[in-house]
Amino acid sequence: MRTKRTTRADVARALWLLGLEPPVDERQLTVAWRGRVARTHPDLHIESDRRSEAATLLTTALNDARRVVAEWIDSGRDWPAPDGGTVTRPRPERPEPEAPAEPEVCRRTGLRRGDLVRSWPYDGEPVEVRRTEVEVGAGVWVVFEDGGAERAERVRLAAYSCPVCGQCAGPERERYVVRPCPECLRDLRRLEQRPAEAARVRTAIEARAEVGRSVAAALDADDLRQRALDRRRWARRLRQAGADDLHAALLGAFTRAYERWAAPYQG
Ligand SMILES: [Zn+2]
Repeated sequence: MRTKRTTRADVARALWLLGLEPPVDERQLTVAWRGRVARTHPDLHIESDRRSEAATLLTTALNDARRVVAEWIDSGRDWPAPDGGTVTRPRPERPEPEAPAEPEVCRRTGLRRGDLVRSWPYDGEPVEVRRTEVEVGAGVWVVFEDGGAERAERVRLAAYSCPVCGQCAGPERERYVVRPCPECLRDLRRLEQRPAEAARVRTAIEARAEVGRSVAAALDADDLRQRALDRRRWARRLRQAGADDLHAALLGAFTRAYERWAAPYQG
């Protein structure tokens, strides 16, 4: 049961999960939802309780996403654009006061406002992200709260730990953000579009867990090290999984991590 108002971040996340680009109509929504559910339906995964659990979780998330997008279509509000702006609808009947906007995730970089990052050579103090900007023909720029900017490929997320792959980054400080890393966010989108990539994605996750383990060791951060080891074990266990089960398990893990991180009222 949903008690709070649907926000732009909710609908952005739902569109992401369904692989849709706004604006979206009822028919497109149904087609996207049906395609996703057909690939992940729990009945396809009855051989194993554990895998079926991941598939059920994902189906629930997809159903929820469909409901959020359907409500949004009905509400007539403007769509959030993929890179953080707004796709204006032709006829807003009366302007609605926006709920305080939660930062939206840039699809190109996996960054959102408030993220801590470091620029090349990645050894300075972290700075906070204000937004990302796409420059035609020149790629993506990350704009910082302190007024500076840098090309996205020279910016790295700082002070975080990824709950999917265990990749992490310093500098050492009291609080790390537990959030899916940009690589996992990219893999999530790729997997949604091309299930055949599951094996490659699994291998990449295992490799990132190994990197996470050594970064955590260098930072002498035991909690980060434990998470990286745990994720490496998980990725290794999935070596034996069949293609459909692997796809469902990976999507389930990505989706859980994404939902937890992007939840509007995280503690
Ligand atoms: Zn990750």
